[in-house]
Amino acid sequence: MSSAVRSATGERTPTPAWSLVDSVPVVPAVVGSQLRVPLVTGRSVEYANLDHGASAPCLNAVRDAVNELLPWYASVHRGAGFASQVCTRVYEGARDVLRRFVGARRTDSVIFTRNTTDALNLLAAALPAETSVVVFDTEHHAALLPWGGTRVRHLGIPASPEEAVRLLDDALAACPEGPKLAVLTGASNVTGEVWPVAELARVARSHGARTVLDAAQLAPHRPVRIADLGVDHAVLSGHKLYAPFGAGALIGRDDWLEQAPPYLAGGGATRSVPDTGEIDWTSGPERHEGGSPNTVGVHALATACEALAEHAEAIAGHEDQLLRRLRSGLAEVPGLRELSLFGPEHDRVGVVSFTIDGQDPGLLAAALSAEHGIGVRDGLFCAHRAVRHLLTGSGQQRAVRISLGLGTTVEHVDRLVTALRSLVARGPRWRYEQQDGRWVPADDPREFPTGLA
Ligand code: PLP
Repeated sequence: MSSAVRSATGERTPTPAWSLVDSVPVVPAVVGSQLRVPLVTGRSVEYANLDHGASAPCLNAVRDAVNELLPWYASVHRGAGFASQVCTRVYEGARDVLRRFVGARRTDSVIFTRNTTDALNLLAAALPAETSVVVFDTEHHAALLPWGGTRVRHLGIPASPEEAVRLLDDALAACPEGPKLAVLTGASNVTGEVWPVAELARVARSHGARTVLDAAQLAPHRPVRIADLGVDHAVLSGHKLYAPFGAGALIGRDDWLEQAPPYLAGGGATRSVPDTGEIDWTSGPERHEGGSPNTVGVHALATACEALAEHAEAIAGHEDQLLRRLRSGLAEVPGLRELSLFGPEHDRVGVVSFTIDGQDPGLLAAALSAEHGIGVRDGLFCAHRAVRHLLTGSGQQRAVRISLGLGTTVEHVDRLVTALRSLVARGPRWRYEQQDGRWVPADDPREFPTGLA
């Protein structure tokens, strides 16, 4: 579309940027969308960030909200100053935003944490004695590992959503009397496949079990409604939700948390500390949020949640279009196999992992970065059991993962597919060597930005 309009006199005049219909972003814009990165050849290209699943870039709206808060930045809760009161209001107000973002019950508590891992470890520390925990082996390590103890049952790796439901049903039926918790994931960080959360939660309820939903990968892509899903607790990370400022949350029923010892003992978690005798720990979210909280991170997280909720439909459309293009492009790359638990037709968010016959995934990832300016991830994606299972028979030990998001463009997807085809046909153009088990360009001439690294 032309960036000029014809005036009443017939002259062409530049169109003001704000009036250009096709310049209005369909989805919220991210910081660094036109970042240029150096290539080993000496050229530079726009960075194609295809690693949103690990950490998503910052939304412009989040950056602006953080900048707006910074002049007011002051202590939270205990300060008498006006700026402290502003920060306290910002921090406390964010709990309502998070509750709305995940469709929680009015009475659900929102406890701010560092990230999903921290939130799940908090819940694990708050489980009543003798709780039986059931968990699929497909989980990200953040959801697989915090439970410890002898009452953890591993549910293996289902080959279909129906089998997942059956495995959960059988395992919960075999659990001893007492509290039970089923750990569920919204979307796999390996395959992007969406899990049948409502059905799994229904089965859990039928056994009197609680559920915790790891929404770290689902929430950046799709609306999450925990009350409608019948889920008891949900966890998420700000840095995957376009708010890279170190905040996450545990949202859900508060009774276990109210009974549990404070997760972080210290200032803010107490009502009074006598010279001798019992400490009077506070109740509510502060009980588990000892120490000075991350006000900026929480404000960033809440701002991101509001923006994602407001643009949910556009985001789904944007990602769906890119995902289709990506998968049809990948299907044309010789020897490429997508990893999938539930089959290629199963619903998934914008995450695709794959191997290519005869190609080292680490070398592919290094060459995509060094020669094409494309950022992807290779390895086992902190889901070792799931990925090893999915690689069975492939002769590969690792995979490559592409994860799409708001910073992804059609050009990025097309560049990836073209680069993969070229790497398969001709191999890398540069020489690579292994350092500490990772492929890196030999004599890498790329310079890091001055002042940053
Ligand atoms: N759960 C899933 C599904 C994830 O993808 C991740 C991170 O990749 C996590 C949990 C852990 O998130 P964090 O590293 O923010 O704690």
